[in-house]
Amino acid sequence: MKITQIGLYLITLAACIPDSNKKLRLADRQLMPLVETVLTEEEQKRLTPDMIIDSLKAGNKRFVNGSLTLRDHSAQVRHAVLGQYPKAVVLACIDSRVTVEDIFDKGIGDLFIAKVAGNVVNEDILGSIEFGCKVAGAKVVIVLGHEYCGAIKSAIDEVKLGNVTNLLAKIKPAIDSVLVVDKNRSGKNKDFVHSVCLQNVHLAIRTIREKSQILSEMEEKGEIKIVGADYDMETGVVTFLE
Ligand SMILES: [Zn+2]
Repeated sequence: MKITQIGLYLITLAACIPDSNKKLRLADRQLMPLVETVLTEEEQKRLTPDMIIDSLKAGNKRFVNGSLTLRDHSAQVRHAVLGQYPKAVVLACIDSRVTVEDIFDKGIGDLFIAKVAGNVVNEDILGSIEFGCKVAGAKVVIVLGHEYCGAIKSAIDEVKLGNVTNLLAKIKPAIDSVLVVDKNRSGKNKDFVHSVCLQNVHLAIRTIREKSQILSEMEEKGEIKIVGADYDMETGVVTFLE
């Protein structure tokens, strides 16, 4: 990354930092080294699933605090040309606001990310997660739901539209299994949408375990962990669902 690009990046970041902290943060960040390397095979081997989950939680704290690591992505890609040794596979929603690498402050080579509306599971997603874990060596699978999910709202409101209809049908079991005293089971009911979002994550994890022998065996042996998480876009906070 050229100096001018770094300057532009810092200016962009500065726009997101409250005025009171801006000067100090910029001064600090200009002293931070630019990360150019990627995770190696040896480093990946030394990591445990719990260490990776801790690292994702720490990365999310940096995201929330506006102190993302500075990375030279073009240099990182060149370093990763001969191999990639990811820490985790994340199944997330297609939503443009769910920028998974930023949310966990990770860079090139760190995460395999499958994005599909409503973070639903199908055969291809299962195959992708299996590839990420069994072949590429990732040790954590995260199903990441998010607040204000248009897919969840549309599924609740029974939207019909081309191939979207079949996709949204995969969210229906989550809707049906949320029992609420509140009779307002609509996409406008924020609490109901939240409950369906969490249930959708839980059911996706159950489907992964039921339909992927490879992943369920890896989990039983302690080689991987499969966890759910919920991303709140208002705060930036990811809550891991234990
Ligand atoms: Zn969504």
